[in-house]
Amino acid sequence: MSAQRTDATGTAAATTATAAGTTHRVVILGAGYAGMAAAVQLAARTRRGGAVQVTVVNAQERFTERLRLHMTATGQQVAELSIPEMLDGTGAQFVRGWVTAVDADARTVRIDDDRELPYDTLVYGLGSAADTARVPGADDHAFTLSGAQDAELLADRLGQLRGGTVVVVGTGLTGVESAAELAEQRPDLDVVLVGRTEPGATMNTRARTHLRGALDRLGVTVRAGADVVRVRPDAVELAGGERVAADVVLWTGGARVSPLAAVAGLEVDDRGRIVTDAALHSVSHPDVWAIGDAAAIRQGYGVMHGTCQGGMPTGVHAALSIDRVLRGKEPRPFRFGYYHTPVSLGRADAVVQFTHPDDSPRRISLTGRTAMRYKETVTASPWPTYGRMKKVPASGAFWPTGGHFTREVAR
Ligand SMILES: Cc1cc2nc3c(=O)[nH]c(=O)nc-3n(C[C@H](O)[C@H](O)[C@H](O)COP(=O)(O)OP(=O)(O)OC[C@H]3O[C@@H](n4cnc5c(N)ncnc54)[C@H](O)[C@@H]3O)c2cc1C
Repeated sequence: MSAQRTDATGTAAATTATAAGTTHRVVILGAGYAGMAAAVQLAARTRRGGAVQVTVVNAQERFTERLRLHMTATGQQVAELSIPEMLDGTGAQFVRGWVTAVDADARTVRIDDDRELPYDTLVYGLGSAADTARVPGADDHAFTLSGAQDAELLADRLGQLRGGTVVVVGTGLTGVESAAELAEQRPDLDVVLVGRTEPGATMNTRARTHLRGALDRLGVTVRAGADVVRVRPDAVELAGGERVAADVVLWTGGARVSPLAAVAGLEVDDRGRIVTDAALHSVSHPDVWAIGDAAAIRQGYGVMHGTCQGGMPTGVHAALSIDRVLRGKEPRPFRFGYYHTPVSLGRADAVVQFTHPDDSPRRISLTGRTAMRYKETVTASPWPTYGRMKKVPASGAFWPTGGHFTREVAR
């Protein structure tokens, strides 16, 4: 859909609503990293006028720090962060519930207790989950780190084990962090990390070597170049027929998104993510803004992949844009460039790969305790950032825009 149609429907409708003195209802689905950023930013900017009502819908009242789920899974305590408390004073309403449907024509959202929420503008930030549909058996037999409940289930299961083998499937960064954490916290377990690529494959040689050295030091057995084709109750099966015995399988291979957007008739990509224009509107439904992992956002270097570092800026940008549109202005294009890949390797070690805006590795990286302190600072930063944005909305409106890497937006 062209930007012209976006202006004709989204901007005009919103401006008319506020000009007519009616309340413009913005419903934000998902209070993860991106949704919270959108909610706090928009509510803080619009609370004075009273012409905008922000409603945030999320499955739980407690904020899920996905970046710490491998810690939850290994029985470590993480902070209790309350979404309603963070929204307190912003004027935003919190609705606890599971979103079961979006009617994009009637502009309503259905919640699992049969409540129906009408909206004028929808911000869709329902995030992603581990893609257990990829191979047979993964859905039935593997644990995931998709949400806090999943991590707690895994913690319970691990608590029952006295020795045994945990197979972590997926040599991406979640797999690496999880394998390292498991091996460090539970030296009684054999941890096997299985996946197609070498762990740290996207890093420079120094960072990759450090990462591999840390996995070796922690006793993690790495099976790179292996394709898991089936998960069984007591093993994973590799292409070629070999079985790797497992008491517990943790699946971190790939991400999928909720089918809600596709079912609602929004234009989605081949992974179900809402396709956006440069400003983050849905290309098919300009009254819907898509943010975080649930959005397919094209930059000059390609479609963004799901991260917290990119997700929070998408939420802030959507909020700034909605505020602009409500004031009769054009939304601006979203630009974002990656700048780092911080990976924990247990609680005392980490590696931080600094990156070019297109996420390719720079020559600079950090390792060891310095990297761990850096990683912890980054992981802990979202919540205080929301707190600052409540008082000074502009404080959250800065992120690297990617220079020439994002000047040419392909779409
Ligand atoms: C172990 C682990 C480590 C990670 N480490 C990093 C890292 O170091 N750096 C980094 O940048 N990224 C990291 N990531 C990725 C990062 O967590 C995601 O990219 C980020 O959470 C995306 O933010 P989001 O707001 O789009 O979605 P989420 O944070 O997943 O939030 C989505 C919210 O929507 C809610 N929700 C979903 N469906 C429904 C529904 N139907 N009804 C109601 N509520 C619903 C969920 O409960 C959740 O609160 C990591 C992920 C994992 C699992």
